[in-house]
Amino acid sequence: MTPKTLSNQRTKAWEQRIADDLRALEDRHLLRRLRTVEDGDGVRIRLDGREVVNCSSNDYLGLSHHPVVVEAVHQAVDRFGWGAGASRLISGSTSLHRELEEAIARFKGTEAAVIYGSGYLANLGVVTALVGHGDAVYSDRLNHASLVDAVVLSRARHRRYRHSDVSHVRELVVSESVSGRRLLATETVFSMDGDVAPLSELVSACMSWDVMVMVDEAHGTGVYGERGAGVVEQLGLSTDVDVQMGTLSKALGGVGAYVAGSRALINYLINASRSLIYTTALPAAAMAASLAALKLVQQEPERRQRLWANTRFLHEALRREGFDIGRTETPIIPVLIGDLERTMQFSRTLLEAGFYLQGIRPPTVPQGQSRLRLTVTSEHSCSDLERLMETLTQLRKQFGIGLREA
Ligand code: PMP
Repeated sequence: MTPKTLSNQRTKAWEQRIADDLRALEDRHLLRRLRTVEDGDGVRIRLDGREVVNCSSNDYLGLSHHPVVVEAVHQAVDRFGWGAGASRLISGSTSLHRELEEAIARFKGTEAAVIYGSGYLANLGVVTALVGHGDAVYSDRLNHASLVDAVVLSRARHRRYRHSDVSHVRELVVSESVSGRRLLATETVFSMDGDVAPLSELVSACMSWDVMVMVDEAHGTGVYGERGAGVVEQLGLSTDVDVQMGTLSKALGGVGAYVAGSRALINYLINASRSLIYTTALPAAAMAASLAALKLVQQEPERRQRLWANTRFLHEALRREGFDIGRTETPIIPVLIGDLERTMQFSRTLLEAGFYLQGIRPPTVPQGQSRLRLTVTSEHSCSDLERLMETLTQLRKQFGIGLREA
């Protein structure tokens, strides 16, 4: 059979359809495209050829560029090479995977832990292993897409409760009888709003109904708690939360995710969690990076102190200037704008002025709630933040944003 040459191919119907879909997205200001970071230290970066201050990274403690982390990677590559070569259950588990899992379990105050390739994979793998047809999941309406997808894939009944509303959870739980298992899933720090779940109340309610509790500490780990172990540590709930999931990719500055809990839970996941079993292990060097980062989180608490000082500075300055930053309590600061076109235009103008604040729009956030997602880190200097405030304040007049009604 002679292969068709590209030149005599007409546009296929499916290609025409996706081209139309892309055009429709563009018309509605919803088209997404990838930006390229050419170099930089995480905070001062060259993005699409322009030097900017990065205010859109989750590297809260600047550990992705810490010399100790980078050196740990070099050493692990020298020892293990780069790729893991196989999945965890075949030959992809190294001594560094085991060491990191033990370190995470100690850090989280649990019996055991297991590493996944990413936070998305961890959420998918945990929920689908723990619940299925005939079971129910109570999920905060603002939970991350990976938790939403996980519940859909699990085929359990999906009961989405109003954001952080414990009484709505109660209503949902008591309004129907579920013969199977029940799981409540919530982020601890919400990734787009920066507020914190009422975890103590949720946990005590779930204990009284025998509902399992799973938390996603993607944005809590490294940020909250005396040792930086997260909101669960801060609230003293490590023995009450059944499943503690979190990522290695945010305050820990690396890649991957962990699930921490009882030995039985972890053994079960190793046997039943498809996104752990049927995928290549992360490289040993990624484990070395997270081991180093985990030590730094505990040995350099001054990073967390700087992070919180920067966070407080911006919360106060933005609120004083009349910006609407919602309910945030954390380094995730939504600068709420509402209109999607104005949000994206504001983001572009800020970029030209030297600050990268990504515009966030539906479906990531609800319609009419488009925003700039400003994230602050320990590595932003006072002068970065003061210049950012000046620029935001000057530009918002041009955009009519954040000006309170007189
Ligand atoms: N959960 C939350 C709350 C997140 O914000 C993210 C990352 N945006 C994830 C899970 C997914 O983590 P990862 O990027 O490691 O896949």
